[in-house]
Amino acid sequence: MKNNRVVIIGAGLGGLQCGYILAKNGYDVTVLEQERVVGGCLQSFARRGTLFDTGFHYVGALGEGEALNRLFTYFDLMSLPWKKLDADCFDEIVIGDKSYPYAMGHNNFYNRLVEYFPHEREGLKNYIALLKRVGDHIFDNLKLKEGEKSLSNTYFAQSAYKFLTETIQDPILRQVLSGASLKMELKAKRGQ
Ligand SMILES: Cc1cc2nc3c(=O)[nH]c(=O)nc-3n(C[C@H](O)[C@H](O)[C@H](O)COP(=O)(O)OP(=O)(O)OC[C@H]3O[C@@H](n4cnc5c(N)ncnc54)[C@H](O)[C@@H]3O)c2cc1C
Repeated sequence: MKNNRVVIIGAGLGGLQCGYILAKNGYDVTVLEQERVVGGCLQSFARRGTLFDTGFHYVGALGEGEALNRLFTYFDLMSLPWKKLDADCFDEIVIGDKSYPYAMGHNNFYNRLVEYFPHEREGLKNYIALLKRVGDHIFDNLKLKEGEKSLSNTYFAQSAYKFLTETIQDPILRQVLSGASLKMELKAKRGQ
């Protein structure tokens, strides 16, 4: 008989997602966690009466047909009480005395930023096209056969610095596009 028992060590986001996917596909999953609560890095905790929340604070691409909508539907998360942020500016990147909006949806995102960077139409088009492509292939990893490589993995493994510098000429726009990714400050020397 095929052994379908799996033990996952660590109930952080990775372990829990992995366990969920395997269980959905018929595996008998046990997740072991060393702490008293599950969640790993994603926690809420109180210190001296102040509540700290280390989880994410907003999620993008949850609109119908968008990449994370597909993932969140798979994980049965779309029924949570999501609140929609301002569609024309769900986040704002402030550089010096100027601020730049992030708008919801590929087209809206493009249109809003083109108002500030009209000379970067082509670059922004290519940037959005890549986002769409990665989103369209986000599920590839779940369907791969042994030895196959997914398109999304290829893109995730590529240097963000290289992609942005090749696609976008304006250094301010590069900063705007990487501004919401805390770990994606552009490190030219390391090529990340
Ligand atoms: C402030 C903050 C904000 C963030 N914001 C975002 C965001 O907006 N969007 C986003 O995508 N990501 C965000 N992240 C990152 C995200 O939280 C992490 O990438 C993700 O939670 C990591 O999950 P993980 O399962 O890989 O690791 P962890 O969360 O570290 O989980 C590992 C688990 O394994 C357990 N463990 C380890 N060793 C053992 C052992 N030997 N036996 C049993 N259990 C063990 C640990 O106790 C832990 O619970 C944020 C992180 C922080 C800290």
